[in-house]
Amino acid sequence: MTIRIALIGLGKIAHDQHLPAIAADPNFTLVATASADGAVLGGVPGFDSLEALLASGIAVDAVAVCTPPQVRHRVAATALRHGLHVLLEKPPAASLTEAAALAALADDAKVTVFATWHSRCAAGVAEARAWLAERKITRGTITWREDVRVWHPGQQWIWQPGGLGVFDPGINALSIVTEILPGTLLLRDAELEVPSNRHAPIAARLTLETGCGAPIAADFDFRQTGPQSWDIEIETDAGTLRLARGGAELTLPDGTRPGEDREYPALYAQFARLIATGASDLDTAPFRLVADAFLRGRHLPTDPFEE
Ligand code: NAP
Repeated sequence: MTIRIALIGLGKIAHDQHLPAIAADPNFTLVATASADGAVLGGVPGFDSLEALLASGIAVDAVAVCTPPQVRHRVAATALRHGLHVLLEKPPAASLTEAAALAALADDAKVTVFATWHSRCAAGVAEARAWLAERKITRGTITWREDVRVWHPGQQWIWQPGGLGVFDPGINALSIVTEILPGTLLLRDAELEVPSNRHAPIAARLTLETGCGAPIAADFDFRQTGPQSWDIEIETDAGTLRLARGGAELTLPDGTRPGEDREYPALYAQFARLIATGASDLDTAPFRLVADAFLRGRHLPTDPFEE
């Protein structure tokens, strides 16, 4: 029997990635949607809230929560309390305590909660992790610079408290480095540039440190026009590893391996495996580093941002 899934929050990522991934995965059948903006799909019952969907009596086993992060905990907690398995878009919540509360609720209800980090499923990441496990890491740089006007047009939530600003894409880089670098990555220092008319950073520079003391410098910026950068470079005693295009393209000293985009199909395959084995996966390591940057970083006012 397939897993009857409902999609909550029918915005950009739901259309770009979740709907095609669900349609292509024989483990899942899309049975309903719920979106606050009233968006619906042809051929699938649509509602304006999870509560309305639940009240309809449609049989659902699982939900994928693709809302902005500020409402993710309320939506996910309602689903878990109804005994539904829950897939969370990143970040898993708007605070670390909300994320921990979801893990506890899933445990109580004996259902699966899966905090997805789609960039960890990018084509080059698994091999990067295996290669680095054998090397001594000496330093690294993360360059994650994109044009917010191109990638997030009209998304006011990204600038509001809990929306993360430039950490919305930056957390993808942090999800990769917390996956490929051994040990616990520490945040030592941070500078956050916050537009005077907004509540979230437009740029951030972080100084991280690996468990062995190697420095990792991160540069996140939403003001990049022209070519966009989603690159990670790790220097080791055996040469330099490069991940480009958000982790899709891995270059090692012996050459480049270009990979295809399988991130969301891999996430749904993993969700089905977790449900089948009665397990959950709610890793907050990337989110903790963002929280640490907000806690330890200097907040520098900068020019107002207008769309
Ligand atoms: P979006 O385009 O703004 O879509 C979010 C949708 O959720 C909107 O339709 C919104 O309706 C709806 N919504 C808000 N509150 C809701 C609620 N309580 N119940 C049901 N629906 C609700 O945002 P997005 O770009 O898809 O991003 C959503 C999440 O995915 C974010 O956490 C983001 O970090 C993550 N993500 C996005 C991308 C990307 O490329 N865009 C990539 C990876 C991950 P209203 O507009 O009426 O509020």
